[in-house]
Amino acid sequence: MTEESVSPTPYDVVIIGSGPAGLTAGMYAARADLRALAIAGDSTVSQVTVTDLIENYPGIPDGINGFDLAERLKLQAVQFGLKTVSGDVTAVTAKQWGGKDGWEVAAGAMRYGALAVIIATGADWRRLGVPGEGRFIGKGVSFCATCDGPFYRNREVAVVGGGDTAIQEAIYLTRFAKKVTVIHRRDRLRATAILQKRALENPKIAFAWNSVVESIEGLDLVQWVRLKDVKTGATRELPADGVFIFVGLTPNTAAFRGLVALDQGGYVTVDANMQTSVPGIFACGDCTAKRLRQVVTACGDGATAAFSAQLYCEELKGEAY
Ligand code: NAP
Repeated sequence: MTEESVSPTPYDVVIIGSGPAGLTAGMYAARADLRALAIAGDSTVSQVTVTDLIENYPGIPDGINGFDLAERLKLQAVQFGLKTVSGDVTAVTAKQWGGKDGWEVAAGAMRYGALAVIIATGADWRRLGVPGEGRFIGKGVSFCATCDGPFYRNREVAVVGGGDTAIQEAIYLTRFAKKVTVIHRRDRLRATAILQKRALENPKIAFAWNSVVESIEGLDLVQWVRLKDVKTGATRELPADGVFIFVGLTPNTAAFRGLVALDQGGYVTVDANMQTSVPGIFACGDCTAKRLRQVVTACGDGATAAFSAQLYCEELKGEAY
């Protein structure tokens, strides 16, 4: 038994995840004088920490590096009294605390008591699931341009996907690579207009439209990708020293399947107050079912979730007014 597991006093709120949504929830909860704990996943790599430049966060006209923003969010939340620990959460189970309904959150060997739980676990990069993808991870296949871009100075790389991430990262990769080919399964990008314009005007970026990757090939390192034209069925080889895959996200919600309602894509369904299908459990940020996944919306969701958790705890303790 750990010290946390035998503590008779649960936290008011345990927040699972420490990205922009979780840390904002933590800041609001701590500032509202709740006993708040944020559990960061064991991995230090997340969507925000590997983003080179966030240029659409309001109030920061020069943009900010994602890692720096994450550090500043944490500093601000901790200043208000948020406690943070790390560990991958594997389960949340119902548990009574002094006659009150609550939860026990399991992370590694630790158990944390909570009256309310906020799920803010974000999302990870989706895989293509084609031959060569797994085998060449770290040998030419990458999910992080900020981490691996500098290895491709004066080389040719491919970027798979047509969303904001693919296009933003393709532009970033032109700092290093001599040629970046964006492989997209349609003839129209999904990315926001300003990113599309920048990519289309960039002389180092080429496009393989209506194309999907059939396999990623090479000897010890990636050397080419086999593309299939989805309209004609024709296949061809595209030389590439690196393949950066940005084909969307998979929510980190496996630990909560069966606990709260998820949509078909595995995202946690919430109402406008970030309430899940289960009283006392709230969710916010990229792990939730919603239309726009941005740092600013994650932060907004986090603030709402914390306020809802605050009202819930006050009601539970008989302190509502
Ligand atoms: P996304 O918006 O879901 O785009 C995924 C892209 O990958 C789409 O173009 C999709 O094609 C393609 N795709 C999906 N599965 C595929 C497959 N199996 N094979 C080939 N292509 C496939 O994902 P994202 O770009 O990672 O963005 C995630 C969220 O973060 C979005 O909400 C986005 O707006 C946000 N974001 C914002 C910014 C910014 O504001 N600067 C930066 C990064 C991310 P289709 O278009 O045909 O569906």
